Amino acid sequence: MFSLMATCCGWVRRWREPVRKVTLVMVGLDNAGKTATAKGIQGEYPEDVAPTVGFSKVDLRQGKFEVTIFDLGGGKKIRGIWKNYYAESYGVIFVVDSSDEQRMEETKETMSEVLRHPRISGKPILVLANKQDKEGALGEADVIECLSLEQLVNEHKCLCQIEPCSAVLGYGKKIDKSIKKGLYWLLHIIARDFDALNERIQKDTMEQRALEEQEKQERAERVRKLREEREQREREEAELDGTSGLADLDPEPVIVNPFQPIASVIIENEKKLEKKRQNMEKDNDGCSLKHKMDHEQIETQSQISNSSQRNSEFGLVENYQEALTQPLENEDETDQPSSESDNGKKKTKKLRIKRSHRVEPVSTDESAPKSPTPPPPPPPVGWGTPKVTRLPKLQLLGETRHNGPGECAWQPRALRGWSRPSAGRVSRRLY
Ligand code: GDP
Repeated sequence: MFSLMATCCGWVRRWREPVRKVTLVMVGLDNAGKTATAKGIQGEYPEDVAPTVGFSKVDLRQGKFEVTIFDLGGGKKIRGIWKNYYAESYGVIFVVDSSDEQRMEETKETMSEVLRHPRISGKPILVLANKQDKEGALGEADVIECLSLEQLVNEHKCLCQIEPCSAVLGYGKKIDKSIKKGLYWLLHIIARDFDALNERIQKDTMEQRALEEQEKQERAERVRKLREEREQREREEAELDGTSGLADLDPEPVIVNPFQPIASVIIENEKKLEKKRQNMEKDNDGCSLKHKMDHEQIETQSQISNSSQRNSEFGLVENYQEALTQPLENEDETDQPSSESDNGKKKTKKLRIKRSHRVEPVSTDESAPKSPTPPPPPPPVGWGTPKVTRLPKLQLLGETRHNGPGECAWQPRALRGWSRPSAGRVSRRLY
C-alpha cells in the first residue's frame, strides 16, 4: 500500500514537471555514422544517407524532454563550425567508426579538442562506438584504449558513457538498443543536473550572442570602410579623368548635373516647339511680303539698268538666298536692315564663315528674323536632350526645303554646325 502510494506520487510529480527543451550536439569524424544514427533515432531508414554539408537537425520528444540534436558535418574543413553550437548544448554525442582503426588517432585528437573547449568541459558526453556489425570492428575496451578516453574525460571533468552499437541495424522503435540506452543515460544525467546546466547554458548563450553581434558589427564596419575607400578612390579617379579630358577637349564650362528628368526635358522642348511654330506661322506672312517687295525691287532695278535676262535671274537667286540666310544671321546681328541685301555675294560669304564657327544653332529659326529680343538660352543638356532638341531643328529644315532654291545654300551648314559640336560635347561629359 505504501509503495503504491509512493509510485503514484512519483507519477504525479513527473506529470507536473515542466517540459524541458534540451539541445545536444552530435559530432565525430566524417563517415563515422552520425547522420545514420540521427535518422535512426528520428525513425527514418538510416542507410544510403548523403554526407552532411553543414548540419542537419533532428527534433524528438523523449518523456518530458523536447530534444533537438544538431548533427554537425565532420569534414576537416567544417569542424570549425562546431564551436558555434557548444554554448547552447546540454551534452555531446560523439560517434566513432569502430571499424576504422587507421583514423583512431585523428578521432582522439578531435575528441580532445571538443572536450577541452570551455563551453563543453564539465558537460556529459555519450560515446557511440558505431559500426559494430562490421567485420574487425574494435570492441568497447579497444576504443576506450585507443582514444585514451578515461584520461580525457577525467581531465575535462565530463561524465561519460560508451555504447558499442550499429546505426544500420534498425530505426525508430527498432533502433539498436545500445543507442536508445545511451540516449536515456544522457538525458538522465542532464535531468539530474538540469538547473546548474541550464544556468550555465543561459549565460554562455548570452555571451555567445553578444560576441556574434560584436563580430557582425565589426564585419559591417570593415565592409563600410572598404566601400568608402573604394568610392573615394573612384571619385578621385573620375575627377582626374574628367578634368584632364575636358581641359584637352572642351573648353566650355562643365555642367554639374547633365542628367535632367526626361519628362521635363520633353515638356520644355514641346513648349519651345509650339512657340516656334506659332512664330513661324506669324512670320511666314511677313516673309512672303518681304519676298514680294524684294521681287518688285529686282524687277524695277532690272528695268532701270536694262540688264540681261540672265543677270536678272542671278539677282533673283541671290535675293532668295539673302532672304533665307538673313534670319539665321540675325542671331548675331538682329538689327541688320533688309536694304543691305544689296551687298550681295560678299556679305553672304562673310556671314557664312561666321555661321560655320557657330556651335549652337538653337536660334537658327529662319522664321524669326525681325525679332529684336535675343534668342532664349539653350535647353539644359542631358542625355535625352540632344535627341529631343534635334526634332524641332529637323522639322524646320524639312519645312524650309519647300521654301525655294535658297535651301541648298544653308541647310548642310546648319546640320554641320549643330550636330558635330553638340554630340561631341555631350559624349565627353558623360564618359
Ligand atoms: P557521417 O558522415 O558521420 O554522418 O556518416 P554517415 O551517417 O553519412 O554514414 C557514412 C556511411 O557509413 C554510410 O554509407 C552509412 O550507411 C554507413 N554506416 C553508418 N553507420 C553504419 C553502421 O553502423 N554499420 C555499417 N555497416 N555502416 C554504417
